[in-house]
Amino acid sequence: MSMVEITDLNVWFGTGRDRVDAVRGATLSVDQGQSLGLVGESGSGKSTILRALSGLVSDWSGRMSVNGAELGRHRSREFYQTVQMVFQDPYASLHPRQTVDQVLSETLQLHGMPDVDRRIEDLLANVDLGHRFRFRYPHQLSGGQRQRVAIARALATEPDVLLLDEPTSALDVSIQAEILNLLKDIRTERSLTYLMVSHDLAVVGHLCDQIAVMNSGEIVERLNVDQLRSRTAEHEYTRQLISNSHV
Ligand code: ADP
Ligand code: MG
Repeated sequence: MSMVEITDLNVWFGTGRDRVDAVRGATLSVDQGQSLGLVGESGSGKSTILRALSGLVSDWSGRMSVNGAELGRHRSREFYQTVQMVFQDPYASLHPRQTVDQVLSETLQLHGMPDVDRRIEDLLANVDLGHRFRFRYPHQLSGGQRQRVAIARALATEPDVLLLDEPTSALDVSIQAEILNLLKDIRTERSLTYLMVSHDLAVVGHLCDQIAVMNSGEIVERLNVDQLRSRTAEHEYTRQLISNSHV
């Protein structure tokens, strides 16, 4: 069953001569429990697709649905119980004056989750952060630890889908693999559906089963990880992307 379905999506910013067509006629679907990687150069429209799904852009046409429910203009609280997003820069996405405890309890309370105290401890354990991190502020955490907190916050609503926008690219190379492995384990344990944006084919190859390649707002090719490894891409643009990366 397809968990995320996008059909003929167009997204634009501005009007008249200032108009930018960031996404043009994009169609993709991700089955329940699958992981789709959206790759392509900077500016190709990857983040805009995730932002459109999350209800963060105003001008779009086409159809989007999650778990069979068609998305309209606005996202309900129930939507965020199903779909959560993890951003590139955990420092920017965490409030500097909120402790880890406050970040997690706020999200849990907003969504009416019971047993807040126990859940916070469980969430910290889920992302391999111990109790001693619970009352720290973001500036008292490393980049990797901050991203673990952002992942814990995303898991707090027990979502079915995670939208991941370059979740490791702001981190030191030595930390990237740790976070990727964590995301991989979490997906398996909870049979989550991932839609992950990256400009790095190696990252996508590690975490995703399917890959969609974007170029100038369009999805130009779809391939699975085996095709990526055997370098059987059809499209010239994809071949270039593969030869520029280390997969
Ligand atoms: P990617 O994530 O692949 O790097 P984006 O989806 O961020 O690309 O951007 C796609 C295009 O849309 C780019 O040309 C970008 O400049 C433009 N764009 C993105 N967000 C906005 C915005 N809020 N206002 C105007 N243009 C935007
Ligand atoms: Mg982006």
